Amino acid sequence: MPAETHLFVCLKDNYGVLLHDPSTGATAAIDAPEAAPIEAALAERGWRLTDILVTHHHADHTGGIAELKKKHLCRVVAPRKEASKIQNIDVTVREGDVVQVGSMVGRILETPGHTAGHISYWFKQDKLAFVGDTLFSVGCGRILEGTPEMMWQSLVKIRNLPADTQLYCGHEYTAANVHFALSIEPKNSALRARAEEVVRLIEKKRPTIPTTIQQEKSYNPFLRADLHSVAGSINMEGANPESVFATIRARKDKF
Ligand SMILES: [Zn+2]
Repeated sequence: MPAETHLFVCLKDNYGVLLHDPSTGATAAIDAPEAAPIEAALAERGWRLTDILVTHHHADHTGGIAELKKKHLCRVVAPRKEASKIQNIDVTVREGDVVQVGSMVGRILETPGHTAGHISYWFKQDKLAFVGDTLFSVGCGRILEGTPEMMWQSLVKIRNLPADTQLYCGHEYTAANVHFALSIEPKNSALRARAEEVVRLIEKKRPTIPTTIQQEKSYNPFLRADLHSVAGSINMEGANPESVFATIRARKDKF
């Protein structure tokens, strides 16, 4: 039976996601921004929380762990490189490790840059990836603990997943990201279509995610920094992708 997901808003603009395995009943929360909306989502679906898969140490991704663990006695999986910054961990993981949620098999991708030990969870069979604050739809996370080179490599790693992989990210930032992306690639027709779609979704108060690798490749400027056309649009023809990426990221920080 295919995996099921349930997406909901936490805090102001964070997303909570539940990943459910119908064949075993196992359910993982990807990050735990706060306990109450996760409890509400579990109750709505009638699911039992067995695991919390943490992407990085920021409080808006970990604030609900203690309360949820106390109530559900769930297993908490977190990045080994951030183990000292996250409470209540049961299992630490690093690049290439495998995490099982019921019968679903996730592989750990280290995707540093936003934080130094940030990880993503890739469920190959289910064509799902949970990328936290590394990649957003039409955007990427701020580089708070890493370097632009590190973040670019992390984004390329995600970009290399199969094109039909569905991506779940940690925040609803798409409208602002689209606005910025249009300043880099105003003539990108896929981006312009995405801009219209995002307006429609937000009017209906619907989420703009999940997205897919294929979609993001067509309109996310941060995944397109190695295209001549994108380098050209910011007068950096011939520069290496890391430099083009760094410049686009720096522009977004000030946008
Ligand atoms: Zn974060």
